[in-house]
Amino acid sequence: MAVTAHSEEPTHCSFCGKPSSEAGKLVSGPGVYICDECVALADRIVTEALGKPPTQSTPAWNSMTDEEILHHLPSVAAHIDRAEAELHTWVQELRRRGVTWTRIGDTFGITRQSAWERFSGEE
Ligand SMILES: [Zn+2]
Repeated sequence: MAVTAHSEEPTHCSFCGKPSSEAGKLVSGPGVYICDECVALADRIVTEALGKPPTQSTPAWNSMTDEEILHHLPSVAAHIDRAEAELHTWVQELRRRGVTWTRIGDTFGITRQSAWERFSGEE
């Protein structure tokens, strides 16, 4: 491999190894280069490390078509359904222990009545 005097141009991403011809924009650091994708990945890892739930990080909407976003909706909804079901089991356990609807409501910052309507499963 010949190294010329003009080897300043980034040749590949230092992190994923993607050649600059495929990587689009390479951002250079001291002796290293990083591509768009690795920047996005690093950003996501940092965001998650800061303790933000992944559901609150902004998805890559700009790079998604309408169809892709639509296709993703059911899995987002399924997530919410699962979380809601999980929440119900926790509340049920509290009820089994004799904790009042007032205390459960207080925890959520809602009234006893609202807590009952949301979690009792009764009409
Ligand atoms: Zn990369």
